[in-house]
Amino acid sequence: MAIVRCLLRASALVVLLLIMVVSADCQPSPAPQNQPGPVAARPQPHSEQAYSLPPDKLAQAIALNKIRVALDIGGSLWGLIVLWFLLASRTAVRLDGWTRETMKPRWLQGLAFFAILIVLLALANLPLDAIGQTASLRYGISVQGWPSWFGDQGKGLAVSIVIGVPIALFFNWIVRKSPRRYWIWLWLLSLPLILASVFISPLVIDPLFNKFEPLEKTHAGLVGKLEEVVGRTGTNIPPDRMFLMKASEKSNGINAYVTGVGSSKRFVMWDTTTDRMPDDEIMFIFGHESGHYVLNHIPKMLAGLMVGLFFVFWACAGLAEGMVRRFGERWNVHAVASRAGFLTLFFALSIAGFVLTPLANTVSCHFEHEADIYGQEAIHGLVADPQRTAVSSFNHLGEAWLDDPNPNAFIEFWSYSHPSVQRRAEFARHYDPWANGGHGRFFAK
Ligand SMILES: [Zn+2]
Repeated sequence: MAIVRCLLRASALVVLLLIMVVSADCQPSPAPQNQPGPVAARPQPHSEQAYSLPPDKLAQAIALNKIRVALDIGGSLWGLIVLWFLLASRTAVRLDGWTRETMKPRWLQGLAFFAILIVLLALANLPLDAIGQTASLRYGISVQGWPSWFGDQGKGLAVSIVIGVPIALFFNWIVRKSPRRYWIWLWLLSLPLILASVFISPLVIDPLFNKFEPLEKTHAGLVGKLEEVVGRTGTNIPPDRMFLMKASEKSNGINAYVTGVGSSKRFVMWDTTTDRMPDDEIMFIFGHESGHYVLNHIPKMLAGLMVGLFFVFWACAGLAEGMVRRFGERWNVHAVASRAGFLTLFFALSIAGFVLTPLANTVSCHFEHEADIYGQEAIHGLVADPQRTAVSSFNHLGEAWLDDPNPNAFIEFWSYSHPSVQRRAEFARHYDPWANGGHGRFFAK
């Protein structure tokens, strides 16, 4: 699971006040990308690259990944442009003025201001999301019809408003009450808010977008095999914490992930995965996900995030104040503590989020690599050939999502939360610590 991305997303949701449209899932599992295919372990001749695609799919993967990269980086820059426009065109200030003229209670003015702002930002983002969906449909990854897609967008917007507006009001209030030290308060509040959002996501948010049922209900045999992995890893993931998500209604992607924290912690498998991947490969993916828990990736990430956010909040408060000093007159924004001025803080946090993307992804890739090693070691002795199983599962994932077998190095550095499928498959092919009587890094045998 893209644990770092999950947490960053959760923190982005909180820290950036959920102004962006919430999409429900946490982009989990060994690889983000898809497409249907036959599922028998593919032979992997050692002379070739560990991950390869047939020529027609290779061409599709290259074309699709150009679109993905453009949308990913372009989308971040577009978000900054929109925020800048809202400030520079005085749209935010006018909106604030309008709410003051038309509504009496102060809380109602703030509520309307932030709700309308969230809607404006969602509308600005809609065309890019629609382009992404168009490409995904065209390349056979998404199978979701437009009415359903727009329904999800609407639900995402509703969630953003319901959660984002109160947080924005609260944060705005803190800035007003403590104009010099507010960034410390926001930082202190971010941890409980992140934890709360990770906790409630699988219980409240995810079911709004997808259907879940106990994995045992339809895949008792598979649950039995996963319990074998549980026995070897010593994790506490009982069958009632394993769920099947009906992803096939919307996607051809293959995926599995762990989510939640404390009593909401669970393992989720997309039904596309169980339909098209052999059980031993699912065991490998499950081992990978278990690795995130056993190796304490979530607490480590949270700790790192809190250290990082301290400096981010400090720097962004300075940047926001600098913006008000430099452009305040022109924008008619006279303090960060004003409602429109609060947008400068949001703008600064968005810049930080964009600039720090490669750093967050580097940390994420490190954890994902560790989880890959763990997953391969976890199935040792349970499947006939862990190397072959892992390599085959990466090929299934890569083919399903149409991952580029040879991505551009800079793009990989900037926007990949997981090592490329090629790197992962290549590592798996050569990882055999048991040769000559050795043992793995995380298991005694
Ligand atoms: Zn992972």
